Amino acid sequence: MTTESEVLTRTERAQRYFRAEYGHFIGGQWTEGNSGRTIPVTNPADGTLLSTIQAGDAADVNRAVAAAKAAFPSWSRSHPMQRQAVLAEMARRLTARIDDFAMMETLDNGKPIRDSAGFDLPGTAAVYDFYSTTPLHLRGETMDFPDAVSLVHREPLGVCAAIVPWNIPMYCTALKLAPALAAGNTVVLKPAESTCLAVLEFFAECADILPPGVVNIVTGYGPETGEPLVTHPDVRKVSFTGSKPTARKIMGYAAVNIAPQTMELGGKSANIICADADLDAAVEGVVMSTVFNKGEVCIAGTRTFVQQLVMEEFLEKLKTVLHGVSQGDPTLPETQLGPQASQVQFDKVKSYLELGPQEGAKVLTGGAPARIPGLEKGLFIEPTIFTEVENDMRIAQEEIFGPVTCVQAWTDEEEVLRLANETPYGLGGGVWTRDLGRAHRFAREMQTGSVWINRYYNFVPGQPLGGYKESGFGRENSFETLLHYTQVKAVVINLAEGPLGIYGSAPAA
Ligand code: NAD
Repeated sequence: MTTESEVLTRTERAQRYFRAEYGHFIGGQWTEGNSGRTIPVTNPADGTLLSTIQAGDAADVNRAVAAAKAAFPSWSRSHPMQRQAVLAEMARRLTARIDDFAMMETLDNGKPIRDSAGFDLPGTAAVYDFYSTTPLHLRGETMDFPDAVSLVHREPLGVCAAIVPWNIPMYCTALKLAPALAAGNTVVLKPAESTCLAVLEFFAECADILPPGVVNIVTGYGPETGEPLVTHPDVRKVSFTGSKPTARKIMGYAAVNIAPQTMELGGKSANIICADADLDAAVEGVVMSTVFNKGEVCIAGTRTFVQQLVMEEFLEKLKTVLHGVSQGDPTLPETQLGPQASQVQFDKVKSYLELGPQEGAKVLTGGAPARIPGLEKGLFIEPTIFTEVENDMRIAQEEIFGPVTCVQAWTDEEEVLRLANETPYGLGGGVWTRDLGRAHRFAREMQTGSVWINRYYNFVPGQPLGGYKESGFGRENSFETLLHYTQVKAVVINLAEGPLGIYGSAPAA
């Protein structure tokens, strides 16, 4: 049971990292929301209150967009070196306090500190660092014609709306803000209402280096803040990361202001294990796919296709490694699996654990909520392996977003590729084999935006991230992303003297 002194310690810890209440960040100032309503933000490991945020509305969004619009002329014409310096300084400040921001993400989202300190925050700093190198390289082009020179300028779009989910808040925010700012746009960010505290703290940290209005943050619920933001007539670009149902709504809203969109959506990615693979490495990759960030990762390899020849050996090894995963308080360095991020998410994963056996799948291990002594209010789920899965089962087709993998057997290449591609999604995938030709055959045929060979989750700065099919469109994390945050203008200079001679006077001799 949680004792009063432990609660006090946790409350004290929350006070050390977070303010009691956050306003919106608009025009370089922290301001109260129009509605006066607030949203409590709790720690999913123990249910304690961390802070409260504003429940924004259309009036708050209007103020934020106006601030971003006012800041645009100056920021869009700023020297590329200035934008480079700001982004580099953001990376530096994040790195200087990386342990603090990692702990904030962990307290807010429940992700193990080894995930936030080992991946999320270094990865986030790398995104700001990467884009700090890009402003000077964002160039237009010239073309020569007999009587003309054409200049193609690359210009920023204006006010960009960035909407991010709750599972990887700092990293997803950086993937949108850094390229938008590098290209000379201003931004209004709407983070997820359940996990935005580290993002708010980071922009408090950077407030003095960002000219007022260049970045604005409005917190609140999707329909009340996200919708007025996306439909605002002064928003010239929408970049969204989140679920398919919300994406469908937002794509419908695009008809209102005809703004271009980037969509980063869900996944149901396949890990294909061949009999000739290093099975220990493949098992580790599948375990990582299952438990990293509690399985709350869009690109997680949640369908495991194992060549029948090695199925028994693979499952034995998988079970052993999964049983060794330490689950518990996410703030402890040894913890590998934390609680799901919210009650809604916990209930959703639990419902799939119940559905699997009803659909005919077998639970090899796990299959239920986990009870962690001292953290009875924590939203923990046992790491789970479903076997005897058929590809048309809902557990094999729908995003569960928890520490769950669905194992299927395969015998020939064509068959496994068909099964791997038989999903509406196409975000990631893994291939495990020592045969280079086979690895590339699989990579070529897999209908996904990323394929990893003999390793999963290898995110390299500059490597495009994004989806095929219903996983979305547009790419993040790459130079190409900058192009999505710009528009081109052609300026044609006539080099010939005098009138053309088509109307009126004769052409110059
Ligand atoms: P979600 O769609 O519920 O919410 C995402 C964001 O949209 C939140 O900020 C939410 O408040 C906002 N929103 C909700 N309704 C809205 C509306 N009507 N108008 C405007 N904004 C609205 O998604 P989620 O549950 O927060 O995130 C999980 C999903 O995100 C999963 O499907 C996951 O796969 C996906 N994801 C994708 C990537 C990627 O890069 N492809 C990365 C991380 C997460």
